[in-house]
Amino acid sequence: KPIIFWFRRDFRLAEHAAILAASQSQRPVIPVVLLDEVAETYGAASKWRLSQAIEQFEHRLKGVGSRLILRRGTAAEELLALARETGAEDIWWTRAYDPDAIARDTKVKSTLKDAGFKPRSWPGHLLFEPWAVKTKQGGFFKVYSPMWRAVKDLDVAPPEAAPQQLLAPDSWPQSDRLQDWALETAMHRGARILAPHANVGEQAANARLADFMSARIGDYKDRRDFPAQNATSRLSENLAWGEIGPRTVWHAGLRGYLEGQRGAEHFLRELVWREFAYHLVYHTPQITQENWRSQWDDFPWSEHEDEAVLRWKQGRTGVPLVDAAMREMYVTGHMHNRGRMIVGSFLTKHMLKHWRIGQKWFEECLIDWDPAANAMGWQWVAGSGPDAAPYFRIFNPETQAQKFDAEQAYIHRFLAERAPTPGPEALAFFDACPRAWGLSKDDPYPTPVVSIGEGRKRALAAYDAR
Ligand code: FAD
Repeated sequence: KPIIFWFRRDFRLAEHAAILAASQSQRPVIPVVLLDEVAETYGAASKWRLSQAIEQFEHRLKGVGSRLILRRGTAAEELLALARETGAEDIWWTRAYDPDAIARDTKVKSTLKDAGFKPRSWPGHLLFEPWAVKTKQGGFFKVYSPMWRAVKDLDVAPPEAAPQQLLAPDSWPQSDRLQDWALETAMHRGARILAPHANVGEQAANARLADFMSARIGDYKDRRDFPAQNATSRLSENLAWGEIGPRTVWHAGLRGYLEGQRGAEHFLRELVWREFAYHLVYHTPQITQENWRSQWDDFPWSEHEDEAVLRWKQGRTGVPLVDAAMREMYVTGHMHNRGRMIVGSFLTKHMLKHWRIGQKWFEECLIDWDPAANAMGWQWVAGSGPDAAPYFRIFNPETQAQKFDAEQAYIHRFLAERAPTPGPEALAFFDACPRAWGLSKDDPYPTPVVSIGEGRKRALAAYDAR
């Protein structure tokens, strides 16, 4: 009897304990991807990126003698139908930890069990299962540093090799065609603008890791905060889609550390931030929706999407570093971590807008969108989250620019209105943005939506008045 393997955000064959076990079982495997109730709610960039991931993964599966079956509909119903159609008893998948995915998976599990099938979820998305890491008191970590100390010396199993072959079933069930899902149409600029910046598939992900380890890990700690420099791994995109596994990345970092690479420990620390985000989203799922600290519920953040919010989204706040970062995200699907902190601080503090507005726009635009890291990142920036930046620490985008983009290389690269001779990335924004925005590169650069000094004063006053 075949095993149905439901791929969700784990588009790889190496470091995939479940698929290796399926292959070793000597039973046919039916790989399936669903456009289900969770995927239907993805932002436009994620939908586009999902279509890219699927396309590459179909090639990858062909290479091991297999195929990918695509079905659209409610996960529980589709899997039940597929199991009945194919005579499979076992339906396996890699576990997810955010509330929407958990709700879906719980439903799938009970539906399949009630109908006499054998659903099984496997670990694979994280280094440590969220319930496996505990504080001394037996609770979960709400602060990052003690979590880092608790996990840094733990053994992490080395990644499994990819199976060489997946047995095909006697006959393949019917599959949708990827183009009929029209995922790329959600993001009209996807193929034209984002594609050159995306790094899709397992092979590309591994090449990216190898390149980072050979060229950039040494200086990572010193250079990772400078947005114009190509100093970070950019693996978030591949980790978000599971095109590389976290243990593969961890062991590469660890080898770097043992070889004495200076930036390696810091890189490992960043990977544990990803773990921390998942730890939090699992133990406090409300983090994706509500202030993690309820004391913030009466803070006067506005959720009104007015003209100022539109200008923030367009990269037209009149504050060059903020605008360059917003444009970077719009044309590349990625934003440098420092940019994320600065635009987040500007929105929630200088502009007094709710972090949920930013969270949603990032979800719409990022090709590395991740439900846990995005929620934690926004609540961290806003001050309402666990281990967050204190609210009164307000990033000053002008001093940040002096410190981290002194030559203005980043601003010039992404912000046409400020570049002496705008390059392709700066100009791409005008090609990509909706006509309805009515923007042109020749528009004068706007005055700030709020002055840096005034915005800061207003934010502090709101904070003090709570
Ligand atoms: P590197 O510097 O090379 O770090 C290596 C890996 O560590 C990353 O790929 C990532 O998996 C992990 N990592 C690093 N920093 C963080 C962090 N602060 N939180 C969690 N994991 C981290 N990251 C996402 O993957 N998806 C998101 O949707 C996302 N939204 C964010 C929103 C805000 C407001 C903020 C402040 C941060 C957000 N981050 C998000 C975290 C961080 O900005 C990105 O992970 C990082 O910029 C990715 O670039 P990189 O792969 O080159 O990172």
